[in-house]
Amino acid sequence: SKNKMQAVLERLGIQAENSGTSTGSEWVTSTGDYFSSISPVDGEAIAAVQATDAAAYARVMERATAAFKEWRTVPAPQRGEVVRQIGDALRAHKEDLGTLVSYEMGKSYQEGLGEVQEMIDICDFAVGLSRQLYGLTMHSERPAHRMYEQYHPLGVVGIISAFNFPVAVWSWNTMLAWVCGDVCVWKPSEKAPLSALACQHIVAPIFARNGYPEGISCLIQGDYRVGEWLSQDKRIPLVSATGSTRMGKIVAATVAERLGRSLLELGGNNAIIISPEADMEIAIRGALFGAVGTAGQRCTTTRRLIVHSSVYEQVKERLVAAYGKLNIGNPLDEKHHVGPLIDKEAVSAYLKTIDAVQQEGGRVLIPARVLEGPGFESGCYVQPTIVEAENHYQKVQEETFAPILYLLRYETLEEAIEMQNAVPQGLSSAIMTLNMREAEQFLSAAGSDCGIANVNIGTSGAEIGGAFGGEKETGGGRESGSDAWKVYMRRQTNTINYSTALPLAQGIKFDI
Ligand code: NAD
Repeated sequence: SKNKMQAVLERLGIQAENSGTSTGSEWVTSTGDYFSSISPVDGEAIAAVQATDAAAYARVMERATAAFKEWRTVPAPQRGEVVRQIGDALRAHKEDLGTLVSYEMGKSYQEGLGEVQEMIDICDFAVGLSRQLYGLTMHSERPAHRMYEQYHPLGVVGIISAFNFPVAVWSWNTMLAWVCGDVCVWKPSEKAPLSALACQHIVAPIFARNGYPEGISCLIQGDYRVGEWLSQDKRIPLVSATGSTRMGKIVAATVAERLGRSLLELGGNNAIIISPEADMEIAIRGALFGAVGTAGQRCTTTRRLIVHSSVYEQVKERLVAAYGKLNIGNPLDEKHHVGPLIDKEAVSAYLKTIDAVQQEGGRVLIPARVLEGPGFESGCYVQPTIVEAENHYQKVQEETFAPILYLLRYETLEEAIEMQNAVPQGLSSAIMTLNMREAEQFLSAAGSDCGIANVNIGTSGAEIGGAFGGEKETGGGRESGSDAWKVYMRRQTNTINYSTALPLAQGIKFDI
């Protein structure tokens, strides 16, 4: 209800009109235009945010560069202690933040909660990591010499994020960057500015309470033009950008021009191979959640099902039946499985793709339509659909950010793996099989070419402990677990001579 949502916004510090620029507790004045965040759930304007202007950006960067000089000298476990407190604060705000994410972005309440849980998980991970930022030691070829490497803080990290994970992506980056000794400037999606404001309201008091300066957690708001300031700024050694491949190519080129580092998390075109030896219950459930969860708006959404011809008809029938039972509607109501697309532009992309794929020869199994009537006033609710298609179709090669699942048929596993790999993107992939030889072939060097390859699990729903990201047009970046932290630090090799001579490496003689 309206009153309940108003109370949530109040508890998260969101007003009708909000400054969009912050260095922590301080909100910076700007002359930028106000823009509204429109909920795809009911089409209502939730609140307005002021875009960052050039002067406000300059102020943020001044604070951030100054704060880095202090933050980099704080022992990493003490930085971890701040992140531990942030994890606690997120636990306390889990329901409110999950509700706002659901209302502003349109994913189900359960998935909104899940997104906040992912933030809590990465905090816990980062706290442990703060005592483990390990380098290696090596044996020197010279007598009485010691060699080792160490990792130092990198500097100001710029974060550009997408609308579909409006808060988790920020936390994957910031929590690691903060324990690594970096400071962060975040440019969230202009389609989810309020979720970002809420995060800033949650973390800023924690830095202040612990006596740390302004500038460690910074927020700037606006569209791609504000994002461009980050990619062009020589003071920012690392830009982490999540979003479309189109955006990633521009950001990568701009950052490379100044020889900066970019970490790219871009589009996916994820497939599940269903073998005749699959556990069909698991296969159908995995495919269903992968394809319609978050209304098909995950980077890891299942977009292609590559099904063995002997089970093709069975899979098709069972999926069509399951799609018939989907409840579409307000994502905050837990009886609904599928919520809205982010905006009307996304709806029109969905309709255009269905038209185009039919022109190419695709057969639509469930009529595509935009839902109308009470509860669907925003115009953003669409019917998830399945299309029988071929892998080489132009539309099948692209990522349409909507619940459209392409059914493809295969005869041999080699052929299935080839199809799985024959798209420009390389994020997530899966095989459903109980046959160990098939599974291992899929995971081998000659198997899936993706950053994520699963067995008997769908393509979406990664855990934070692993490195997350993909190859080819997905951008090559890795975030979150494993050793993804290394990109947020600079590596230094140190050689120390404790002998009474100065022997040169490679035995070079240089005597005078
Ligand atoms: P988008 O590319 O439209 O926008 C993403 C962000 O980039 C926004 O903050 C936007 O303002 C900014 N931006 C756009 N152009 C820019 C430019 N030239 N310079 C600097 N910043 C710029 O993407 P979206 O519609 O918000 O999100 C959906 C896309 O994100 C999908 O392709 C999805 O697969 C991808 N995604 C990938 C991952 C991953 O981890 N691989 C995760 C989530 C989303």
